[in-house]
Amino acid sequence: MGGTPESTKLPPGMVMGPDGKPCKACSSGAAFRTWGKTALAGATAVTKKSQQCPPDKDQLGRATWTFLHTAAAYYPAQPTPAQRSHMLALIHALPALYPCNHCAEDFGESVAQHPPDVSGRAGLSRWFCERHNEVNEKLGKAPFDCAKTDERWKDGPQDGSCD
Ligand SMILES: Cc1cc2nc3c(=O)[nH]c(=O)nc-3n(C[C@H](O)[C@H](O)[C@H](O)COP(=O)(O)OP(=O)(O)OC[C@H]3O[C@@H](n4cnc5c(N)ncnc54)[C@H](O)[C@@H]3O)c2cc1C
Repeated sequence: MGGTPESTKLPPGMVMGPDGKPCKACSSGAAFRTWGKTALAGATAVTKKSQQCPPDKDQLGRATWTFLHTAAAYYPAQPTPAQRSHMLALIHALPALYPCNHCAEDFGESVAQHPPDVSGRAGLSRWFCERHNEVNEKLGKAPFDCAKTDERWKDGPQDGSCD
């Protein structure tokens, strides 16, 4: 197996993927960097820092939530059956395909407990907000006010600072 040597202690926040290899998309960036330094100590390999690095768990999360909340913000108020079906397929694909496997597993349980509301823009935006708040709570973050979802993801603040 090509996994981590058992003697290598994993720092908190560092997660191995199902293939037994370090999963950057499942780990915090700080933990991944710490692990990398430990794992490479004494190695002769020279690493070159790139400005375009693969995402860690938090970068992937921010990008994915941006897509999901924005997709909900622009979802029709009265979607066609095909649009509902596509949105359901997108949501149900995440537990199977989201690259952070422990995130995907928890999200899948949440989707099973809270069937997606794809009836229209308002319901879907709230549904994503509530799912995101579950993750926020799990991570010890303050909940987002779901009444402000449109302001955050569609209209921007009233002061016009995002116009
Ligand atoms: C499906 C999914 C599951 C995840 N599961 C995990 C997990 O199990 N463990 C883990 O460590 N990380 C998980 N993540 C990543 C995590 O949710 C965050 O993306 C990551 O911690 C970075 O957080 P952040 O504070 O930068 O902002 P994020 O939480 O990424 O939020 C980005 C922006 O969205 C807005 N926002 C915040 N909350 C809401 C909300 N409820 N509704 C609408 N807008 C909101 C805020 O303006 C915020 O700045 C998951 C991500 C996704 C997409």
